[in-house]
Amino acid sequence: MSNLQLTKRDFLKYGTSLITAAALPYTYQVALAKEQWDTIIIGAGTAGIPAAIFAAERGLKVLVIEKASVIGGTLFVSTGQISGAGTVFQERKGIKDSPDQHFDDIMRINNNTSDPTLTRILTDHAGPTINWLAANGYTIFDNHPVKKMAHDAFSVARYQQGPKGATSPWGGGLAILNAMKPLFDKEVSKGSITILLETSAVDLIQERNGEINGVIAQNKEGKSIEYKGRSVILASGGCASNPRMYEELHGIPLYCQMAYPQSQGAGLILGQAVGGYLRGGEKYSPLYGMILSDDKVPSTPYGVAINAMERQPWEIVVNSDGKRFVQEDHESVDHIEHQIGKQSAHRHWTIMDQRMLNEMPPMIYDWSNERIAKEADNHVMFKSGSSIRELAIKTGLHPVNLENTVNDFNNNIKNNQSDSFGRLHRPLAIEQGPYYSVRMSGWSLCSFAGLGVNENFEVIRPSGEPIKNLYAIGEVIGFGATSGNAYVNGMGVTPALTYGRLLGQRI
Ligand SMILES: Cc1cc2nc3c(=O)[nH]c(=O)nc-3n(C[C@H](O)[C@H](O)[C@H](O)COP(=O)(O)OP(=O)(O)OC[C@H]3O[C@@H](n4cnc5c(N)ncnc54)[C@H](O)[C@@H]3O)c2cc1C
Repeated sequence: MSNLQLTKRDFLKYGTSLITAAALPYTYQVALAKEQWDTIIIGAGTAGIPAAIFAAERGLKVLVIEKASVIGGTLFVSTGQISGAGTVFQERKGIKDSPDQHFDDIMRINNNTSDPTLTRILTDHAGPTINWLAANGYTIFDNHPVKKMAHDAFSVARYQQGPKGATSPWGGGLAILNAMKPLFDKEVSKGSITILLETSAVDLIQERNGEINGVIAQNKEGKSIEYKGRSVILASGGCASNPRMYEELHGIPLYCQMAYPQSQGAGLILGQAVGGYLRGGEKYSPLYGMILSDDKVPSTPYGVAINAMERQPWEIVVNSDGKRFVQEDHESVDHIEHQIGKQSAHRHWTIMDQRMLNEMPPMIYDWSNERIAKEADNHVMFKSGSSIRELAIKTGLHPVNLENTVNDFNNNIKNNQSDSFGRLHRPLAIEQGPYYSVRMSGWSLCSFAGLGVNENFEVIRPSGEPIKNLYAIGEVIGFGATSGNAYVNGMGVTPALTYGRLLGQRI
């Protein structure tokens, strides 16, 4: 989990294809500007690739403008966990499921906070999208689909991830890219898709009547060229690598940066500049347990604590006042994450003793508990103390409060009384020093805010009126539009792929 850097090998592998390798010569770029494109797609990532494939397969003349030197976007870093009802993977295991059940699960988990129309479109078409991937070589772990992984559970097993790729620790995104890239390359070699790599869309061309009819793009030498298209699709991703924009739109700092580097929010600016509007920033919700590398904002991941969906907690979790604020083993990690969202700077600390460290299952992904003891007092996020009071002082927590918190937790266990927060899993009291704390932060890897769109993926004005010929799909419409104020299994990648496929079929 700690290695989230794109490896050089990833880029070489996905950049060496003859077709998508080098940026085209300038004279050729200028020649392309004389053409009239049926559609221009900004961004060859999770959403843009299927949109281009399906549009090209229908015979449309497609221009794809991609800022990076390779296609794939966030699929290079994403875990690529996706969910859909009625998939071949479910069928093979005899799992009965339906789009209605998928819809109900999503709305239950996010308390009806995602856009119901977009969610319904997603659940009706996610299964066929996954089957399309499967028909093109996409495979999943043998023990998948599952009901849950790190987020709240579905009512049936419909959540899956492709096996880790050879070069990426997260891998699942690459399994999806590996299935789509040959189809994309085929259309490029047929001439149905033309791709401009290392080229950034910097403006949209808008007629006086408000219609969009092209894109101004800048090549890597900084030269601007206008491309004319009957429609334009914004598929340029979110803004989770742009700390300033992220904080402006969500009112929350980007505590941890681990999104694709090109997720700079370009499409959000382009869409707004021609009359679109942004919505959904208020849906921001933090994830549990990021151990940051340092005090900088944004920082990078040092480790990630395993949440209650995957491991029953032994330790307690406190806030900056040294008080517990949530039932640590609550059956809904979404509930825990929303309580974290109410704490100062979304910080939370685990508190434990030596006996817990010795006996409990690992608390941090890919770490032994021994390592926590070794990091104590050597890394800013890890402290130890011979008493709870000393631990509190070194950690910067209120010493009396922390003592009271630990005493309350311990006394309830010893007296066989129920826990003050209703916690059920309490194997040990915290009573054998040395004592340890790990400081964690709430975090996110997606931008919840995005452009308003209607059921046809047309970018809309605040009045609801569509901006003619302009469409948006993927995280540019906001993770909150499809996942609501929660992290619903697969609700980043699945809508990006599904809406891309649908728009390519319809535009
Ligand atoms: C580490 C990580 C793990 C995740 N895991 C999951 C998961 O398991 N399941 C899930 O559902 N979601 C997950 N997500 C979220 C999900 O991966 C994203 O929401 C989704 O992939 C975004 O797809 P997209 O097409 O909108 O953007 P991208 O795939 O990023 O594509 C956008 C493309 O646009 C290009 N671009 C940007 N600006 C410009 C410009 N000005 N001009 C031209 N091109 C431009 C980019 O280079 C990029 O290729 C994860 C996210 C991260 C960061």
